[in-house]
Amino acid sequence: MRINDSKLLAAIGALGVEHKRGVSLSELTSLGIGGTSDVLLIRKHDTIPALIRLLKESATPHRFLGGGSNVLLPDGELPWLVLQLARQDPEVRFDGNNVYVDCAADLGRTVTLCAKHDLGGMEGLIGVPGSIGGALRMNAGAYGTQIGTFVREVKVYRAATSGIETLRGAEINFEYRHTSFAPDDIMLSVRLELPSKPYSEILQGIRICNEKRRASQPLNQKSAGCIFKNPPGGSAGRMIDELGLKGHHVGDARVSDRHANFFVNAGHASAADVLELIADVRRRVRERYGVELEEEVIVWR
Ligand SMILES: Cc1cc2nc3c(=O)[nH]c(=O)nc-3n(C[C@H](O)[C@H](O)[C@H](O)COP(=O)(O)OP(=O)(O)OC[C@H]3O[C@@H](n4cnc5c(N)ncnc54)[C@H](O)[C@@H]3O)c2cc1C
Repeated sequence: MRINDSKLLAAIGALGVEHKRGVSLSELTSLGIGGTSDVLLIRKHDTIPALIRLLKESATPHRFLGGGSNVLLPDGELPWLVLQLARQDPEVRFDGNNVYVDCAADLGRTVTLCAKHDLGGMEGLIGVPGSIGGALRMNAGAYGTQIGTFVREVKVYRAATSGIETLRGAEINFEYRHTSFAPDDIMLSVRLELPSKPYSEILQGIRICNEKRRASQPLNQKSAGCIFKNPPGGSAGRMIDELGLKGHHVGDARVSDRHANFFVNAGHASAADVLELIADVRRRVRERYGVELEEEVIVWR
């Protein structure tokens, strides 16, 4: 989606929002897939209500992108304008066991920074790519840890009221790869409360998690992590593996040889290739196990 209306562009500029023309979104996603669109980079949180109002008034469809590590974007010219939060300085602030983090901050860097302040608990999240905002939206989790456990407050642009509000952690439901934020809410910053732990102990936990990840995931290939959520009591990866589908492919979209629930872009895969592979694997799992796998990756349809 391109913005060509000069009045709209001027109004967006007046808010201090940066307009980037014709961005190749494959460069902003870990799968390396995605067509082009204009991108609006939001520098100040308090400009969001006015910006969204402008986009609504001009009937400009838009979607929000974080670090791009859990999304499958379509090919070609996207029918939405893409919004992103600009990195803030500082991104992270400490006050005792409370950590105030901007949602544009990188999750892994935040975990490391907290460790240096002797604040632990999030070691399991060390290898999860993407932003704090994306982690909040997805309730990112690994090795028995999920970010929601530590959330005490979230500053959020609420689509329902068109204003910025601060929600208490207890007001938000954090479930397996799902949270109760509305689809058009934009998370802006979070207060986490982390337990005190010696740096050396946290570092040891981080090393163990990194090793587990390296041993089981195709980290040197383009992917979006797990494609499907695990069904209750089961493992999507195990079922796909048992069906002998490692290496199965549609064009360059391929079921990883290392982890059957990771689909990788082994070259020039298109969104259509990945969608066809998703549909094919889902059908085979349904036919063999009677289980309907649900996507974990967020597909922009
Ligand atoms: C190699 C690899 C390993 C992975 N391992 C794990 C793992 O162990 N555990 C796990 O949970 N995930 C894992 N993932 C998936 C992914 O890293 C997480 O889901 C991550 O939290 C997504 O963050 P992001 O910023 O990249 O979000 P994006 O992919 O940019 O967006 C995901 C969704 O969140 C929304 N969103 C992003 N930021 C905001 C915001 N500020 N406000 C509102 N909505 C927002 C987007 O609109 C989109 O709907 C892995 C991915 C890869 C590539």
